[in-house]
Amino acid sequence: MTVKDLANNQTLLAQQEKRESNARSYPRRIPIAISEAEGIFVTDMDGKRYYDCLAGAGTLALGHNHPVVIEAIEKILRDKRPLHTLDITTPVKEEFVNEIYSNLPEQFADRAKIQFCGPTGGDAIEAALKLVKTATGRSTILTFQGGYHGSTHGTMAISGNHAPKQYVQGLMPDTHFMPYPYAYRCPFGMKDEEGHRVSSTYIENLLDDPESGILHPAAMILEVVQGEGGSIPAPIEWLQEMRRITKERGIPLIIDEIQTGIGRTGEMFAFEHAGIVPDVIVLSKAIGGSLPLSVMIYDQDLDKWNPGAHIGTFRGNQMAMAAGTALLKFIKEHELHNHAAAMGKKMIVALKEMQHQFGEIGDVRGRGLMIGVEIVDPTQGQSASGSYPSHPALASRIQRECFNRGLILEVGGRNGSVIRLLPPLIITEEQVTDVLRIIEEAVKVAVESME
Ligand code: PMP
Repeated sequence: MTVKDLANNQTLLAQQEKRESNARSYPRRIPIAISEAEGIFVTDMDGKRYYDCLAGAGTLALGHNHPVVIEAIEKILRDKRPLHTLDITTPVKEEFVNEIYSNLPEQFADRAKIQFCGPTGGDAIEAALKLVKTATGRSTILTFQGGYHGSTHGTMAISGNHAPKQYVQGLMPDTHFMPYPYAYRCPFGMKDEEGHRVSSTYIENLLDDPESGILHPAAMILEVVQGEGGSIPAPIEWLQEMRRITKERGIPLIIDEIQTGIGRTGEMFAFEHAGIVPDVIVLSKAIGGSLPLSVMIYDQDLDKWNPGAHIGTFRGNQMAMAAGTALLKFIKEHELHNHAAAMGKKMIVALKEMQHQFGEIGDVRGRGLMIGVEIVDPTQGQSASGSYPSHPALASRIQRECFNRGLILEVGGRNGSVIRLLPPLIITEEQVTDVLRIIEEAVKVAVESME
């Protein structure tokens, strides 16, 4: 096959369908072959340009090929730095660690140890599970309904979604799912915003009840804003309660910041909104400045595992560390976390207005630039908490109508019915307006097509 034969979308997509695994996912919903990318835009093989509000599933905080990222990568090459060093240290790594530590709350940074993991978010979560089990000598893990932590055996065991796990036998045992404060579909059937208090009470009771059936946990793991579960922000008070409850009982709290981290939610790290200090945080996605990298940062008291307890070949990606350093510096210098908060607010206000126009928009929620629009069928009966049944067919039609109009966004959440926006933090106000215009048009056309 020559390059000429590969010169359009259709040929590449056909080749992909023929040769790639049945497990491939995004191309099924976003049928595009990307030729070039810059900032918030990608251009396909046929020359059509799209807004990329998926941005590598939240990875590309500065968008595609940001000049500071490109310069950092090129500098590694110019300076003849090693590209790969296992976990052997280098000046590039030292600068990266300094940069991360300088962004952490002092209370955490002063006592922090860092483990480089290899190189996916899932691997860093695996490391976190092993760390807390080793440090506590316990095995029970408390996780949450709707949580997503990865696609490996261990991380899938602590993730909520049934679809990928139902065919895989023998997942990690002793994992227990707690109710996440999902106000629109309150697990306790409550109509107001009070459901999170019941969740805290339930969890505290369960930990203290000698007949709860759940042994003293090695850790609790949570996302401050659930990503794959449907862009669901946890109330601040609930997060503070989770910290109090775990702290009082000597249970390490692992915060999965893989999707929320590095400015996306309006703070550098999402846990900062609640003013809490976790025991472990896990970072990946944005931290490598577009390149694969993951790290776990944890309190020194947990550092009880042996040399070599968590290894892996690809833990020394120097280009990713340099790109990550450049990204962190740029975000801090330009206060992009504040920009993310402002742009997110603008989007949420506009989407809530759209909700008055379309009964099919059941809920609009988010924190910073991590936004969810839950698509429902308002012709059906309401649940106890006032929610309507999800409408996955309409959600996927909206996604397709957006795509046709040059906007890439993800659909996820319960039953694949939540439109998820994860644009790069550099999105401008004009681009926000344009993206909202496309969404409004797409919703209108999609709703009409269902009538
Ligand atoms: N945790 C969270 C919160 C995530 O969003 C993801 C990826 N979507 C992961 C873990 C897993 O990361 P990776 O795909 O790099 O293994």
